[in-house]
Amino acid sequence: MNDTWYDDTLINKFEQKEHLANNQKCAVLIVGGGLAGLCLLYKLKKNNVDAVLIEENHIGSGASGRNGGFCLSGWAQDYDVLLKYLSEEEVLTLEQIAASGVEWMKKKCLSEGYEHTNLQSGVLKCFLTKNIEKVKKDVIAQNKLFNQNEKFINKEKLSKYVCSSRYTCGVLRQDSFQFHPLNFMHALAKDCSNLGASIFENSKFISYQIDGGRINSRVFNGNEMVKVQSEKIVFATGGYGGKEIKDLKNYWLPIKTFIGVTKPLGNELHSVLKKPLGFSDNRRAGNYYRVLPGNRLSWGRGISAVGKFTSLSLKRAISKEINYFFPELRNVEIDYVWFGNMAYASHYMPYVGSIKIGNEEKNVFTLMGFGGHGMNTAPGSAMVLADFIL
Ligand SMILES: Cc1cc2nc3c(=O)[nH]c(=O)nc-3n(C[C@H](O)[C@H](O)[C@H](O)COP(=O)(O)OP(=O)(O)OC[C@H]3O[C@@H](n4cnc5c(N)ncnc54)[C@H](O)[C@@H]3O)c2cc1C
Repeated sequence: MNDTWYDDTLINKFEQKEHLANNQKCAVLIVGGGLAGLCLLYKLKKNNVDAVLIEENHIGSGASGRNGGFCLSGWAQDYDVLLKYLSEEEVLTLEQIAASGVEWMKKKCLSEGYEHTNLQSGVLKCFLTKNIEKVKKDVIAQNKLFNQNEKFINKEKLSKYVCSSRYTCGVLRQDSFQFHPLNFMHALAKDCSNLGASIFENSKFISYQIDGGRINSRVFNGNEMVKVQSEKIVFATGGYGGKEIKDLKNYWLPIKTFIGVTKPLGNELHSVLKKPLGFSDNRRAGNYYRVLPGNRLSWGRGISAVGKFTSLSLKRAISKEINYFFPELRNVEIDYVWFGNMAYASHYMPYVGSIKIGNEEKNVFTLMGFGGHGMNTAPGSAMVLADFIL
């Protein structure tokens, strides 16, 4: 059995065509084959920019191919917090970027080559709060501000969607969706490859130097150290970048979050989760869960910056959590368990744009820090950065 359920159900795998040779030259070198890096590559290649992507492991082996598979608008930081620091106009622009990411992903999922992404519409956020009036008020305010169509659902109606005595109300977002993120990543890599993009897996960025306006990077291609020369470099290394990204490392904390997938369950699964939606709850490190093909329940939960975890302890913790919300499922057994790293900055927002490290430069960019909300914000931000670079 593979690491994740996604690995075991990967269809249409991207195959790298060539190996990274010494003295590769390009206009833009993208470091990191997650959703951020790949979306940037896609947009740059669409515009005939000579961009090359290197990935330390495999396409989607970071957070992008092992996440909960929920795609919905918004950012890791809440809008009511952003409104304390930014004007309403700026927040509206941010929401447009976040929503454009959802639209872009949805369009892709529904296009040729992406058949195995299994898009299912609708995400229902369930609340454990007693302050139901506030939830209702927030929905009205948010719908008005962003011209959205989120639907408040009271406790009685909620039981038509999900049966748990823990929840007091819900908010349904019909324009959001769930999908198979690893199949998406491989379809997107193929798309980029069809546009003539070079993607090199097993190629770890080690360091770079700026020499006469050119950026000389050292990359380990699995066998030897090779040189890549580029005009620009973009770090899209998510929560996986180490000391090789120099001082940049100090701006993010890698935070782990965990997913378990149950053994196939019987019909009792559909008596508690009555609609084929994605479900989440309103705690900061809340649960996010959905039914996968084969009647398995995928359950994401928790965050941690420290500590070691055994499969057994994670399986027990996830089974216990499922039991807390759905005792009818009776201590389900977990078949798969895994975790992934997310990059969080102290303000919970990403860094997107050119950066200065020490006295250096305007041709070094970052595209990272998407936290637990990257499936829309990474593509939305990649498109903005691509436009800037273009
Ligand atoms: C378990 C889990 C569940 C989540 N659930 C959701 C969800 O349901 N919805 C949602 O919107 N978001 C979710 N997220 C967050 C989302 O997955 C991330 O925000 C998003 O994938 C970040 O994309 P990225 O491209 O920035 O990073 P990543 O996908 O992590 O990609 C970074 C890549 O850079 C590579 N790399 C790092 N250093 C180097 C180097 N030196 N050289 C070459 N390559 C390098 C890594 O190997 C990695 O593949 C979840 C995250 C996790 C971990």
